[in-house]
Amino acid sequence: MKAFTYERVDSPQAAAQAVAATPGSRFVAGGTNLLDLMKLQIETPQHLIDVNRVGLDRIEDTDDGGLRIGALVRNSDLAADLRVRQRYPVLSRALLAGASGQLRNRATTGGNLLQRTRCYYFYDPAQPCNKRQPGSGCSALGGYNRIHAVLGASEQCIATHPSDMAVAMRVLDAQVETVSSQGSDRVIPIANFHRLPGDSPERDTHIEADEFITSVTLPPPPPGRQLYRKVRDRASYAFALVSVAAIVDAEGGEIRHARFAFGGLAHKPWRVEKAESDLVGETASKAAFDGAGDAVLIGAQGYGHNDFKISLTQRVLSGVLTEASAH
Ligand code: SF4
Repeated sequence: MKAFTYERVDSPQAAAQAVAATPGSRFVAGGTNLLDLMKLQIETPQHLIDVNRVGLDRIEDTDDGGLRIGALVRNSDLAADLRVRQRYPVLSRALLAGASGQLRNRATTGGNLLQRTRCYYFYDPAQPCNKRQPGSGCSALGGYNRIHAVLGASEQCIATHPSDMAVAMRVLDAQVETVSSQGSDRVIPIANFHRLPGDSPERDTHIEADEFITSVTLPPPPPGRQLYRKVRDRASYAFALVSVAAIVDAEGGEIRHARFAFGGLAHKPWRVEKAESDLVGETASKAAFDGAGDAVLIGAQGYGHNDFKISLTQRVLSGVLTEASAH
């Protein structure tokens, strides 16, 4: 690990000012991803800004019946919160499907959103990787790409975003709130928070260098049954090959409202609203759900080892929608 300096800040504004004042600095909270990256010298920040004491560790009701989740709320606490379990079970289930108990006890809401891809080549400094070193090439394109993207990828990068929590937040239409070093607040819909790789895969999000995440707001939950299903190579402590967060409201076999978002498929949580609206008024059936899967997978492309994700996505979506609409 390379030497770095360290400071502790006590307010969100001070955090944003500190990162603006020291180029090459990084925020650290739980450190569950950053410290691994530093040990491998994938990330070599000159300066660490400890944000654990900025006071954003509460979950509060909002006036419209939603929830505001402080950026420093730990994943375990969020998953266990009674309001989350009762009103947003898809979020609780997604959180509990991620990592391990020890990691969830440390990992924060803001840090979870900012975690980096688990592409094998990103973590191997001996291999070319455009995300780690722009312009060096993408080892996954001609390499072993079983865990990689089938949607929204580019010739520069085919990595996926690893978060389960973010997939649930995407289906719930969460909003990410930030403060900048100048003191201005910004609200970013989660749909626009993460970005596709395009020509600059080194950037995972649309957040600016001097912005600090303060909270994530959930609107009131939509009607319907909420489910999260994650397919992975082992039963726990593994990232998603394909995951689906779904909310379905059905009455007498007719779909009244449906939402679904996916993990493991792209550089950001993937959601196609047209596929959802096309289901409204349809009778719950395999044909209807297969049609939704076709709409989600428009433009899907495998790279060899990950070709299976396309048919797997169809099957997982159909299974989840069948289960969710049966109640
Ligand atoms: Fe790097 Fe992205 Fe290619 Fe992985 S997929 S090697 S992260 S450029």
